[in-house]
Amino acid sequence: MSKNSLADLSLKMGRRTFLKLATIGASFGATSAFASSDSVRAATQEEIKNPFPGSKRVKTICSICSAGCGIVAEVHNGVWVRQDVAQDHPISEGSHCCKGIDQIDLVKSKQRIKHPMKKENGKWLRISWDQAIKEISEKMLKIRKENGPDASMFLGSAKFSLQEAFYFRKFAALWGTNNIDHVARI
Ligand code: SF4
Repeated sequence: MSKNSLADLSLKMGRRTFLKLATIGASFGATSAFASSDSVRAATQEEIKNPFPGSKRVKTICSICSAGCGIVAEVHNGVWVRQDVAQDHPISEGSHCCKGIDQIDLVKSKQRIKHPMKKENGKWLRISWDQAIKEISEKMLKIRKENGPDASMFLGSAKFSLQEAFYFRKFAALWGTNNIDHVARI
């Protein structure tokens, strides 16, 4: 099927239905090579229709910037499994930017770094939290001792929750500087 006819089909079916069917098709293609294995079986119609039985839909907001667009998080057995837009949110009115639409990847992405990493001789190595905290704090204290607290600027991550931003602000105050900003400005 050509790219244009795929786009037409997507428009006719609606984006959600189209993506759902495309994903099922892609999964079938990827797994068909293992079809004879006992460990794989075709999903039942009920499983395709409802892959997370008993899941809850929880209304929340995207924390990446101060717009606070609405998100519906689908939670299954305590795990965030799918994300949907909040159609009735008063600010975002059922839309997201490209960052917010993928917010679930903050917890689900396979590319997420889960341990401190250090680049040595051009290679990334996993290091312990103790080593990371020791090395960073020693460098920070050296800068502070030699140049004063205002020689540092604290830039908060857009991934901070409100509570993390609060602690980050307190830390900068303790450090002795007002040089602080945060992407979400919360
Ligand atoms: S990052 Fe995007 S989706 Fe998230 S709150 Fe800001 S504008 Fe909305």
